Amino acid sequence: MVEIKCLACRKTLKIPKYVDTDNYEGQIICTECESLLYIKLVKSKVRKYRKLIDKKPMEIKVISAVPNYDEAKRLKES
Ligand SMILES: [Zn+2]
Repeated sequence: MVEIKCLACRKTLKIPKYVDTDNYEGQIICTECESLLYIKLVKSKVRKYRKLIDKKPMEIKVISAVPNYDEAKRLKES
């Protein structure tokens, strides 16, 4: 059983059944963070491994672009 850690989230990847660990070269998707990775396996050993698309959510604070004027007005009046 080959254990591969995701390059994006560092969690252990579950290798899909279609992947032949003796001979596989192609894309693999992390089941945890859905990052797209490229891997080459030869005889259950990792020969090539890199990250193609990192889908790990970035920490972005959602700021309302339009201030709630009605809410501000209501507070002022009360
Ligand atoms: Zn991941």
